[in-house]
Amino acid sequence: MQFTAARADVPAPTVDTLLMGYGLFSAQGSAGLCGVYLVRHGSRRILFDCGHVGRRKALLRSLARRKLGIRDIDTLVLSHAHWDHIQNADLFPHADILMHPQEHGRLAATSTADPVTPPWTSAVLERSAVRRVTDGCAIAPGVRVIGLPGHTAGSIGLCVDTEQGVALLTGDAVSSAKALREGLCTVVTAGRDAAARSVRRVRARASLVYPGHDRPFTVTDGEPDRYLLPRADLVATPPDPLTAEPERAHPCTRKEPVR
Ligand SMILES: [Zn+2]
Repeated sequence: MQFTAARADVPAPTVDTLLMGYGLFSAQGSAGLCGVYLVRHGSRRILFDCGHVGRRKALLRSLARRKLGIRDIDTLVLSHAHWDHIQNADLFPHADILMHPQEHGRLAATSTADPVTPPWTSAVLERSAVRRVTDGCAIAPGVRVIGLPGHTAGSIGLCVDTEQGVALLTGDAVSSAKALREGLCTVVTAGRDAAARSVRRVRARASLVYPGHDRPFTVTDGEPDRYLLPRADLVATPPDPLTAEPERAHPCTRKEPVR
């Protein structure tokens, strides 16, 4: 893939959290709130994952707060093809969409039995030009693809050489600080050994991790150290109008120790 060579007058790439990731599950399933990140270098605007349609307005608002519109995004990197990471990709038909070949290739063969990449997933990308990228592929100066298989066979991340150190945007290969600490992603679909190797790759390289379903955090000696952003509470559960049950704290608002 072509990109303009690094110039001394262009600052190092930066990573910005557009939408915070949450690991939010219920008896009815997952809310699927993944981290959505923006990498900038010079005039480049690279989106890493894009969330699902339930967060579409929030994504547009987050871009607008940075005086950006959807056409300002030149590249969308999809860490993998799970619904919660990919569904808003149809907003960016003008952008280069980057996926690993194994992840892109399996879209043609999904079934309704697959709860996280159902058959309609390929329709999300039907107006887009998808470029297949693999480990080591440079997409901007100081920004390259890192292969992180295990959560899915074609999971990828981005390795970004920021002024604060190497930032790794991991998707669900490292979904949380807990996953990094435990050495394994929360959900493994493509080999436990591969998944553990991917976490070790992240531990060995990262000074900062931008995970799939948690706040970004620093890494010291391979271990999660401290969060970069304060905890952001989600909306509390409203009172039940029929039984007048008192409002209860939503699980996300409980004060819990940092994982
Ligand atoms: Zn996933």
